[in-house]
Amino acid sequence: MFDEQIDGIFEDLADDLAELRVVLEPLQALVPEGFFQLCDDHGRICSLPENFNIEPEVRSRLLADARRAHTLISFERDGQRFYGYRLPGSETILLFQLPQLTDDLLVDSFTRDGFVNTIQLALLNRINQETVIENRQLQRHIKGLGLQHQKLIDENYEQYQRIQEKEKEYARKLESEIARQTRELREANIRLEEASRMKGEFLANMSHELRTPMNAIIGFAGLLAESSLDEEQADFVETIRKSSASLLVLINDILDLAKIEAGKLDLEEIPFDLHGLLKSVTDMFRSQALDKNNKVMFVQDQKLPAKFMGDENRLRQVLINLTGNAMKFTKNGTVDVLADFVKQEGDRFAIRFAVSDSGIGIPPDRQAAIFEKFTQADGSTTRKYGGTGLGLSISCQLVELMHGEVQLESAEGKGSTFFFVISLPKAVDEAPSEAPKIVTAESGDEVKRKLRVLVVEDNLVNQKLATLLVKRQGCEVDVAGDGFQALEKLRQFQFDLILMDVQMPKMDGHEATRKIREIEATSARIKYAGLAGIDPVEIVGLTAHARKEDEQKCYDSGMNGFLTKPIERDKLNEILQKRSH
Ligand code: ADP
Repeated sequence: MFDEQIDGIFEDLADDLAELRVVLEPLQALVPEGFFQLCDDHGRICSLPENFNIEPEVRSRLLADARRAHTLISFERDGQRFYGYRLPGSETILLFQLPQLTDDLLVDSFTRDGFVNTIQLALLNRINQETVIENRQLQRHIKGLGLQHQKLIDENYEQYQRIQEKEKEYARKLESEIARQTRELREANIRLEEASRMKGEFLANMSHELRTPMNAIIGFAGLLAESSLDEEQADFVETIRKSSASLLVLINDILDLAKIEAGKLDLEEIPFDLHGLLKSVTDMFRSQALDKNNKVMFVQDQKLPAKFMGDENRLRQVLINLTGNAMKFTKNGTVDVLADFVKQEGDRFAIRFAVSDSGIGIPPDRQAAIFEKFTQADGSTTRKYGGTGLGLSISCQLVELMHGEVQLESAEGKGSTFFFVISLPKAVDEAPSEAPKIVTAESGDEVKRKLRVLVVEDNLVNQKLATLLVKRQGCEVDVAGDGFQALEKLRQFQFDLILMDVQMPKMDGHEATRKIREIEATSARIKYAGLAGIDPVEIVGLTAHARKEDEQKCYDSGMNGFLTKPIERDKLNEILQKRSH
């Protein structure tokens, strides 16, 4: 076991000459007057002291002997004795000469073994020393490595802290950037909301401004229709009424564009008569067709039922847009409005609506562009034909809401066909569809009692119209131009009904109503005290807006009901009759 370890050491040590020397040095140190020579199996030689040498042939013989023997061998040269010793487990031979060593001594196995042990001990000591040194070096190295490690840890930690700091800094910047952007977005949002609110207000005002003259046109045309007219005049008035009614629908629909774009337009689902719809659309263009020498007609597929469920007004708007365009761009030709059967699935019918003309047509490179808002086929269109470039875009969006798509087939100089396919359910009950909201001369019974009605309206034309409509029902009418005047009138006279315009200068209808209700409340207390007071009066608001919130506003301010402008005569009469009983 011990030998094996030594063997290993010797094998390692004998690797090169420097290492041979390392083996010799402890022996030299042990026996300074001796000399030693190592000769490894590669023939490398190392001697101590260095100037000592043995002739090669002496060495060879000694080596050969030593290789054969497993113990110390001796050899004499020039009266001197040399010894050889094969290092255990290796082919390396140690030659040495020691003055005090004699053959006699080596004959004694005890002495010999002692000598060999001494050599081995010396070697081991040396190796031990080296191991200690190496150990120390190793320790130093480990310590160095430890320091390096610590340094690395410190550096890493510093780096980590720097990164942390940077991350924190970055996070701070990011947070402040996000906060800034959020603030900007919030501000932009507020601005947008404000713009949207202003747009809404603008639309509401526009709606009022547009409806006021329409109110007058429709109302007076209705009154005119009731006067004694010859056939032709009656026809003209009828055309004025119908066209203005359609125009009103159109105005409403254009205002609805904002709604469509805001995704706030809901389609209605009410029964309507397809034939009636197609007829009303083509009828609208009869006089225009006459002027332009066009033939206008509509064809309804026989396979289609008479009544459908859907949004008749929106469908009408689309057909009016398309037919209007067809008429505009056609002269001495034809304009056809078609409703074709495509297929039936249960109660639903796919219908292909088409408006076809033999007009100027649209060049292929402009066919896509004209569907964009405010875009016309070419720059001269507005000059020549007028228009805003809005109609097609509105139509497309409305048809999209109906799950269809407006398409175009056109050839320059030959004409155009705009068409779309939508699916509509057949109307379940064959009840007549809602009549178009046109004021009719026949409607309305005389009211039973003479009512005193106060018309509060700032617009003189509307004042006159409302007065006439109310008078027609046998009522007494008084007028006030704004809320102040209305309060003044109320102090002087008793009224059964007030028709109160909502939008007025100085004091609007809502404020006036609130004031009237306050006065009535005080008056009730006066009456309670046995004095004369004012009886509560019924107030019906007149509003240009038919929106839910406008309706609510009327009730909130204390009104009992409301009518939208243009005033529908039937509805006004209904109110007057109810009040007179
Ligand atoms: P507007 O008619 O008010 O200009 P539209 O959006 O309805 O707006 O139409 C856009 C453009 O498309 C028209 O200006 C015209 O150049 C072209 N266009 C539409 N319909 C026809 C048609 N039937 N024949 C020829 N050109 C048409």
